[in-house]
Amino acid sequence: MPTFVRPDRCDGCIDRDMTSCIYICPHDLMKLDRDGSETGHAMRAFNQEPEQCWECYACVKICPQQAIECRHYADLVPLGASVQPQRGPDSILWTIAFRNGNTKRFKFPTRTTLEGSIDPYGSKPEADLSTLGEPGYFTSGGVRKPGNPDELIRK
Ligand code: SF4
Ligand code: SF4
Repeated sequence: MPTFVRPDRCDGCIDRDMTSCIYICPHDLMKLDRDGSETGHAMRAFNQEPEQCWECYACVKICPQQAIECRHYADLVPLGASVQPQRGPDSILWTIAFRNGNTKRFKFPTRTTLEGSIDPYGSKPEADLSTLGEPGYFTSGGVRKPGNPDELIRK
């Protein structure tokens, strides 16, 4: 089930160059309605193609305002219930709201190092781009080449 943005919580990530939800969506579904002409809510984000949503929850987790919610399947999360994550620098807190008004919270650690402290290329040698064409890097034959139409299997 797709995500949707709550315009009462979204602030359009006004203090950032790009909204967090646009940055993170692997399917490029989130869009900022700058003048309100598309949704009636100026400077609010929205999911522009809900039927294409992967339900990956990336936008829900990254939104700093907890403005994005996911409509779940009714058999998994009955109507009226909700699941909302809140990220911290080293953990994520999930708030589960049940239809009867009860809530439960689960907090899980998400990292073992300080945010921003990882140097992914630290102590790695510089890449030697001149070797990219050598056999073994892309295919056993070397650099990937366009396919030969004559080699296609046709019925
Ligand atoms: S990340 Fe959240 S606050 Fe920022 S634009 Fe998207 S929905 Fe709005
Ligand atoms: S749940 Fe995933 S695919 Fe759907 S809008 Fe959010 S980031 Fe994009």
